[in-house]
Amino acid sequence: MSQPKTENIKVVVRCRPLSEKEIKRGNFEIIRMDPSKNTVYLIKKPDDQEPKSFLFNSVYPNSADQQFIYDDCARPIIDSVLEGYNGTIFAYGQTGTGKTYTMEGIINSEKDKGIILHAFDHIFAHISGVKNIQFLVRASYLQIYMEDVCDLLGDPSKKLHVRQLDSGITVVGLSSHIVKNPKEITDLLLKGAKNRTTGATAMNQQSSRSHSVFTIIIEQQEEDGRTKMGKLNLVDLAGSERLGKTEATGQRAKEGAKINQSLLALGNVISALVTGSKHVAYRDSKLTQLLQDSLGGN
Ligand code: ADP
Ligand code: MG
Repeated sequence: MSQPKTENIKVVVRCRPLSEKEIKRGNFEIIRMDPSKNTVYLIKKPDDQEPKSFLFNSVYPNSADQQFIYDDCARPIIDSVLEGYNGTIFAYGQTGTGKTYTMEGIINSEKDKGIILHAFDHIFAHISGVKNIQFLVRASYLQIYMEDVCDLLGDPSKKLHVRQLDSGITVVGLSSHIVKNPKEITDLLLKGAKNRTTGATAMNQQSSRSHSVFTIIIEQQEEDGRTKMGKLNLVDLAGSERLGKTEATGQRAKEGAKINQSLLALGNVISALVTGSKHVAYRDSKLTQLLQDSLGGN
């Protein structure tokens, strides 16, 4: 039997704890999670006997901490990137659901650091434990806002083009930075985060409407000259709430559609990959174009 295509795409759900504000407001959780059944239940009233249920590859209740999330769902992807495959991790959800906390978390906090920071430690710990192989690690960091791509580690006011070259998909002019340890790569993340919120095209309001993509390319050369290359994309997606809200009205719908063209296209591409459809519309957005060789290819 051939492997189902869905094997390559996994969807997990993480539920954050209620915030203090939500608790004060008297809000309560309307979902229950059963990690042993990979199922989320939607509890509409306290005595709901037949709650609606949703099945995922994994579900994480709010007791799952950053380390657990990394070990359970991210670590295997970083391991395969270290073996020369491409991998991508997205965080999808409404603004305030915990995408940035999950992807980035709090720098310099062992307890609160997110997937990106754990990945830095993991990659360099692996490299320092391997003899006879030479590693080259490069990182870049970009943002997509209203289908404009900008370099968060270069000049964020300049628009960049995405091109299909013989060597693969390239963002023309995107800066790439060689890094040798977790500190150097963390400094890049910090620099990009600063550009994301203070740059000309990246006001605070826009950060929840933009996608950010942190890419790590790991090349390795063995003593006999054999080489391998793996690429890891860590993506903090725009808030998904704009989709529903803007669908209703005319001019605003257009703006909304453009803001979230990437989010819509990503959904379509993933559906096409999962159902094994022959036509996968990577070219419908910058994000899917950019991630083509990680979503469908290697
Ligand atoms: P998003 O990026 O999806 O808009 P954030 O990551 O900024 O959301 O999270 C919103 C707030 O909730 C932040 O204050 C964040 O620190 C907090 N938060 C999110 N997830 C968790 C979690 N699993 N545990 C504790 N606090 C969290
Ligand atoms: Mg965020």
